[in-house]
Amino acid sequence: MSRFWSPLTASLDPYVPGEQPKDKRYIKLNTNENPYPPSPLAIEAIRAAAGDDLRLYPDPTCDDLRETLAAEYGLPKNRVFVGNGSDEVLAFAFPAFFSPADTILFPDITYSFYPVYASLYGLTYRTVPTDEGFRIDPDHYRAPNGGVVLPNPNAPTTLPLPLEGIKRILDANADRVVIVDEAYIDFGAESAVPLVSEYPNLLVVQTLSKSRSLAGLRVGMAFGQPELIDGLERIKNSFNSYTLDRPALAGAIAAIKDKAYFEETRRKVVSTRDRTSEGLKEIGFEVLDSKANFLFIAHRSVPAQRLFAELKDRGILVRYFNKPRIDNYLRVSIGTDEEMDAFLTAVKDIVT
Ligand code: PMP
Repeated sequence: MSRFWSPLTASLDPYVPGEQPKDKRYIKLNTNENPYPPSPLAIEAIRAAAGDDLRLYPDPTCDDLRETLAAEYGLPKNRVFVGNGSDEVLAFAFPAFFSPADTILFPDITYSFYPVYASLYGLTYRTVPTDEGFRIDPDHYRAPNGGVVLPNPNAPTTLPLPLEGIKRILDANADRVVIVDEAYIDFGAESAVPLVSEYPNLLVVQTLSKSRSLAGLRVGMAFGQPELIDGLERIKNSFNSYTLDRPALAGAIAAIKDKAYFEETRRKVVSTRDRTSEGLKEIGFEVLDSKANFLFIAHRSVPAQRLFAELKDRGILVRYFNKPRIDNYLRVSIGTDEEMDAFLTAVKDIVT
């Protein structure tokens, strides 16, 4: 608390990101980063962009990147928005489409940034319970509301909602915006991007942080009909016209164009995920059926908090959320095969 803080600042309960430890080298399975480096072509493009042109502002409308994304996702450029990570895109979308007069909905177990954005903008929200297996029931989103946000697959549960379920939510909320946060979509769930032309109320948010290994570059995007994209642009241009810098624009374009590298790395992550999941089940873990680049797990006898602490002692960092319903679960990002073997060896040792 400081006497210099505004009432708004004093009222906030900010998001706490996963640790980026500096004390020693950990096997880092706590922030859902990709274990593989970015495309070499992206790194080359970033290096090439780090030159004399940095004295000039970047393109405020990010035309080349939006064009590249439009071509890749089969949409016109006016249906694409880009921002400094998908967190920023979400941070623009909340005030762009939600009003303090109405209550927005999101799942009870979900990305913990949503309530933070809601409180920053003075929005009220209601959480919708997932079932005992953490599944989302689309029919629970028929209640009156001022908008809906949900990740697909959900985080941290890893569970996908089939497109049919997304459509049910969109149909039930034709006059409100439904934001589908597809941060982890490339690891196996069905994307709602093909629904954009059919649903004026749909905004799909994605990121290059996970499947393109570019968490450090901060590039996120949204797909929606032009009236939604224009709404995001209005907020962005009331905040900062240059949210993406020159190296980020260049690197993002090159990463999107390197489809072969993208396919290869995501295939590796998915196969390591499925192998790790089987290994965990064999030693008494419940493992939710993941379509993301991480697993959500609970052991039948060893409490998650103890597993978290003992893994950390052994130099392996995972994520533990001390929150109702999920306080006996760990979220474990998928690393390389070697990292996941070290993780499996360590957990086996702890639980047996
Ligand atoms: N949505 C979800 C569900 C996430 O887990 C994350 C990563 N923390 C993000 C959005 C934001 O990712 P980024 O800002 O790196 O694009």
